[in-house]
Amino acid sequence: MSKKASHIRLYVADDLLTQRTIILGREQAHYLVSVMRLAVGATVLLFNGRDGEWLARLVKADRKSAQLMVEGQTRPQSLDPALPGLTLLFAPVKRAKTDLIVEKATELGVARLIPVITERTNTDRVKMERFLSIAAEAAEQCERLSTPVIDLPTGLDAALKAWPDDRPLYFCDEARTAPLLLSVLWAKSSQSGDGLGPCGLLIGPEGGFTAAEREAVCAHRATCSVSLGARILRAETAAISALSLIASAYELVRTDLQ
Ligand code: SAH
Repeated sequence: MSKKASHIRLYVADDLLTQRTIILGREQAHYLVSVMRLAVGATVLLFNGRDGEWLARLVKADRKSAQLMVEGQTRPQSLDPALPGLTLLFAPVKRAKTDLIVEKATELGVARLIPVITERTNTDRVKMERFLSIAAEAAEQCERLSTPVIDLPTGLDAALKAWPDDRPLYFCDEARTAPLLLSVLWAKSSQSGDGLGPCGLLIGPEGGFTAAEREAVCAHRATCSVSLGARILRAETAAISALSLIASAYELVRTDLQ
């Protein structure tokens, strides 16, 4: 079956195997039946982050629920275009902009998102349910075979304490005195033959980091302070810009998708 014939992709929690019946809840049933106007017999692609991508056929549908029968695998999990070693630690900003960070980080392949509460973060901007549904929708759209893991919000000190000493943490410092992220990534990915390896990216809040926070971040052995250029970017711009650079650096050496 050509993928083009079933371009609708849905993230489900169920295990995926041949002849498995999948019952969709109200929201996904509404999307297939009322929004996309699928009829019984139509096919969709399903993924769950574990079993790869599978073709499934709509066998029963009404406004409240839909039933799919899983037919065959279209892509193995090993072809997931996500970037397994990439973590984004970000200070939540205004709601719409934080939603944008979650959506774009998912599209850019981030495997894990850690909302970090800093002194200048407005903590009522973390809506986990919302983040999960935005990430699932972005994963469906960008043809990932997984959604990012989203941690519960954590304080900056706790996030630093939990971060491994041997995993580079690219600290986007708006002080802009550090080397450019691009040159750091270029040097790293060209010096070691196996490319970038697992790493993290830390982006601050609208108000930036305090001097004490900057000191605490720089005291971590894994921290590599980087600049995104001569201009001060909004947090969401900084996240997208830095993730685009890191994602490209990963792709430079990625051979398992060719
Ligand atoms: N309002 C603050 C800037 C905060 S920008 C001020 O005027 O100083 C939000 C976050 O984006 C920063 O904490 C930093 O992580 C990142 N950022 C913005 N511009 C950057 C740059 N040129 N280089 C590195 N990081 C940057």
